[in-house]
Amino acid sequence: MLLNKELIDEKIRIAIENSKKYIGKGEVPSYIPELLNVDRDNFAFCLVGTTGDIFTYGDDEIVFSLQSISKILTLILALSDTTPAYLYSKVGSEPTSYEFNSLIPIGDKAANPFINAGAITTSSMILGSDNEEKFDRILGLFRSMSEFEGTKMDEGIYTSEIATADRNKAIAYYLKSKGIFDQNPDEVLDLYIKACSIGTNIEGLAMMGAVLANKGIGIKTREMIVPENIVQIVVSQMASCGMYENSGAYLMNVGIPSKSGVSGAIVGVVPEVCSLAVYSPRLDKTGNSVRGKGLFKIISQDLGLNIFV
Ligand code: GLN
Repeated sequence: MLLNKELIDEKIRIAIENSKKYIGKGEVPSYIPELLNVDRDNFAFCLVGTTGDIFTYGDDEIVFSLQSISKILTLILALSDTTPAYLYSKVGSEPTSYEFNSLIPIGDKAANPFINAGAITTSSMILGSDNEEKFDRILGLFRSMSEFEGTKMDEGIYTSEIATADRNKAIAYYLKSKGIFDQNPDEVLDLYIKACSIGTNIEGLAMMGAVLANKGIGIKTREMIVPENIVQIVVSQMASCGMYENSGAYLMNVGIPSKSGVSGAIVGVVPEVCSLAVYSPRLDKTGNSVRGKGLFKIISQDLGLNIFV
């Protein structure tokens, strides 16, 4: 991406304008009631270069929950607290054609760490004397990656999801019954849902992605936050499994390892170049932001960010 800042800014503005054709398409999910209480047409976008350049557009003050994007954090910590060999003996590394909260792909273990069953599994591996300490470690990791001071758990989202978590409860109990973990399933699920409820603004999300684009080094601090071998695992899993059952087609269309969440956010990582983050709450039937996907496709083409071409 050998472009000057003015040209990048101009191209992003045009791409955002062109992505307006997606406004009004898709629905917000109803299974977490609190997620219905958003303006469906909220929109924010941010690109952070590994050089530290930041380009922010739209409703950049809005704080939204990470939802499935927190699966990146739980994977990083679980890999740090165990080993890749142990982790992948308890969870698979392959994409699945089933929806993110399906019980079907579990089999002997969850298909991958980026569906619910996989992230509930990785949550069970996070060390700490109790859930408070474990959650503080997840939040602390997000804070150091995002450099977003205001980050905290959104109590409204957490309470709403925990009250309606029947499907995820079934998954957690099933995993325990299969011997994938031996802790109390309600405790493990509580930690997973707390992680999903972490709030960020768009810049915080893009900064988090930029650390992954920057081989695990903090964008402002220039200190190592995530070891390089873990970055390599996380980013490749984003490429193969980050967009649920749409991951293959998305990678072909957009060409950027990405992870999405049902709040309507997507974070993308272009190694050694930049990260991109978008927030637009209306989702398609695979649970991915409609306008977010559309915009990433345009920007990937216009800024030459597709990692394959
Ligand atoms: N908290 C959500 C859930 O467990 C996260 C899912 C998602 O973002 N796809 O269902």
